[in-house]
Amino acid sequence: ALDGGGNSSVGGEDIKFSVMVSLFQWMQKSKSSAKKRSKFRKFIDTFCRKPQDNFAAMRLILPGLDRERGSYGLKEHVLATCLIDALAMSRESDDARRLLNWRKGGPKTGSNAGNFSLVAAEVLQRRQGMASAGLTIKELNDFLDHLASSENRAEKTSILSDLIRKTNAQEMKWIIMIILKDLKLGISEKSIFHEFHPDAEDLFNVTCDLKLVCEKLRDRSQRHKRQDIEVGKPVRPQLALRVSNASAAWKKLYGKEVVVECKFDGDRIQIHKNNSELNFFSRNFLDHQEYAHGMSDVITQNILADKCILDGEMLVWDASINRFAEFGSNQEIAKAAREGLDSDRQLCYVAFDILYVGDTSVIHRSLKERQEILQKVVMPIKGRLEILVPNGGLNAHRLSGEPCWSIIARSVDDVDKFFKGTVENRDEGVVLKDLTSKWEPSDRSGKWLKLKPDYVRPGSDLDVLIIGGYYGSGRHGGEVAQFLVGLAEPPAPNTYPRRFISFCRVGTGVSDEERNTIVTRLKPYFRKYEYPKQAPPTFYQVTNNAKERPDVWVESPEKSIIVSITSDIRTIRTEVFAAPYSLRFPRIDKVRYDKPWHECLDVQSFVDLVHSTNGT
Ligand code: ATP
Repeated sequence: ALDGGGNSSVGGEDIKFSVMVSLFQWMQKSKSSAKKRSKFRKFIDTFCRKPQDNFAAMRLILPGLDRERGSYGLKEHVLATCLIDALAMSRESDDARRLLNWRKGGPKTGSNAGNFSLVAAEVLQRRQGMASAGLTIKELNDFLDHLASSENRAEKTSILSDLIRKTNAQEMKWIIMIILKDLKLGISEKSIFHEFHPDAEDLFNVTCDLKLVCEKLRDRSQRHKRQDIEVGKPVRPQLALRVSNASAAWKKLYGKEVVVECKFDGDRIQIHKNNSELNFFSRNFLDHQEYAHGMSDVITQNILADKCILDGEMLVWDASINRFAEFGSNQEIAKAAREGLDSDRQLCYVAFDILYVGDTSVIHRSLKERQEILQKVVMPIKGRLEILVPNGGLNAHRLSGEPCWSIIARSVDDVDKFFKGTVENRDEGVVLKDLTSKWEPSDRSGKWLKLKPDYVRPGSDLDVLIIGGYYGSGRHGGEVAQFLVGLAEPPAPNTYPRRFISFCRVGTGVSDEERNTIVTRLKPYFRKYEYPKQAPPTFYQVTNNAKERPDVWVESPEKSIIVSITSDIRTIRTEVFAAPYSLRFPRIDKVRYDKPWHECLDVQSFVDLVHSTNGT
C-alpha cells in the first residue's frame, strides 16, 4: 500500500533504520554530552552521503521540528488503542490494560509507568521478534507520511501493523518515540544543530524550516551568512525567563528601563501580513488559518503596512462582561466565526511587538522604538485588535475601573503593585521587558522575565462525583459526552455530605466504551432541567454562569459515580464553577465504581491540597 502513494520523502534509501537505532541507544546510554555529540556527528559523516540523506535523518532525530508532515493525531491514548488493534490483542488482556493505563501501569507493571514508549516496548518485546527486517530510513519516512495523512484510526492501525511486521521491538520503541516527538536522548536540540552545522540553529530560528536548513547547509566548512527574518516564514519566538518574585526580577533588570506588561493567557501567535495574504503562526510553527475567519478583515483594514509581522497573543474578548475570556475558548470561537454565528465572544489579537514592517526587519531596533512603530502601524479596535504599549493601545481606551495592562516601572514597588493587581484580576501574571533590548529569535536569556503566581499540580488523584452531563456533538451527538463533576461540601463529622459544589467539566481520558458504560449506568437518573424556569436540584451548588449548566443533572448524588481526575496543567481560579478553583485540561483517570458516592473529595480538603502544593 506504500507504493505510488505520492510520497514526499526522498533520501535515506541506503541507511538502515537499525543503524539509527544503534545511534539512539548509544546516545541515550552515554553520560557525557561530548560523547553524544561526537557519535551523532560520526553518524552524519559516515552515513548521510547524499544531500537528501541529511533531512531524511534529521527529521527523525528532531521530530518536534519537522513540519513537512502534518500531525499524526496520535497522542498516547489513541496510539495505545491503535497498537492494541495492530497487535490483534484483546482489550481485556493484561498487556492492553498496561498500554491503556500507561501512566499508572497495568497489572504487575514495573518501573516503566508514566513512560509510554517504555511500557509499549515492554509489551512489544513479548509480541515481536528480535530480528531486524532491514527497514530503511526512506521506508520509515514513507510510513510516517502515510500515518500523518491517514484520516481514521482503522487506517492508522493498519499502517502500524505493517510497521510492526517490518521492525523488531527495539526499532518499534524508537518509532513510537518519534511519533510522540520526544526521543529523550539527553542532548539539546542546540547541540544537534551545532554538530550538524555551525549556522544551523541560527538559520532554523528564522525560518523554522528543517528541510531548508538541511538543504542549504550541506558543507560544514562553508559558513552561511546570518539571515534575517522574512514575511511568510515563522520565526522562533523570543521567550521569557521565569523569576520567583518582584525583587528578583527588579534585580535582574537593574538600571534598565523596564516595562511591565500583563501576561495574557491565550495563544502566542505571529501574524504575518503580505498584502492580503495572512499567516497565523503558533509557537510550533503551524499556520492557524482558522483564525483568518474572525480576523482577516480587521487585520487587512487596520494594519497600515503592506507587509509586516506582529508578535502577540490571540485571545477571546467577551463583550458581555467586558473582559478577556478565560483560556481555552479560542478554537470554539474561531469555529463560531467560520460558521457565521453571532456571539458576545469574539477573537481578539493583542499585539505586543512588531518584528517587520514595509520591507525591513525591525528586530534589531530597541523595544521602545518597536513600540513606537507598533503604534504607527496598527490602528487598534476595542476587543478585536489591540496593542500593548504603556500609554496607548489597550491602556488608552480602557474603561474606568478596568485594569491597566502595561506600565513603565520605576521601582520594585511599581512591579509588585502591578503584579498583585494582575493576580487579583485573575490574569496569568506579568512579563517584564528591557525597553532597550532587541528582539531575538528563540532567546530566553532574561531580556524578558515572567512572574507568575504559583500554581498547582495536584500530587494525588482527585476523587469527584459526577453531578451532571453535557450532550456531545458529532459522533457523540444526542448522547451525554462530558460530565459536570462536583466536590462535596465538607460534611459534619461522621455524616455523609449533603451538598456538592460544581467543580469542572470533563470529557477526556476515558475510551468511548468506558464512557458508554458510565452513561448507561447513569441514564435512568439523568433529569433534564429547563432553564431558567427550573432551578437545579438543591443538593447541588452552582453559579449563575450559563456555561456551567449541564444538559442533564443526576437526580440524586447517591445514584452517581465517583471518577478520579487529574490535570496536567495548572489549577486556576474560577468564576464559571462554584468551587473556588477549577482544573485546566482535566482528564478522567479512572472510573471508581468501587468507591461509594460519599467518598467524594470535599472542597476544604481540595483547597488545603492546593495550598500545600503551593507552599503557601
Ligand atoms: P507559559 O506557560 O508561562 O506561557 P511558555 O514556555 O509557554 O510558558 P514563556 O516564554 O515562558 O512561554 O512565556 C512567554 C509567553 O507568554 C509567550 O509565549 C506568550 O504566549 C505569553 N505572553 C502573554 N502576554 C505576553 C506579553 N505581554 N509579552 C510576552 N509574552 C506574553
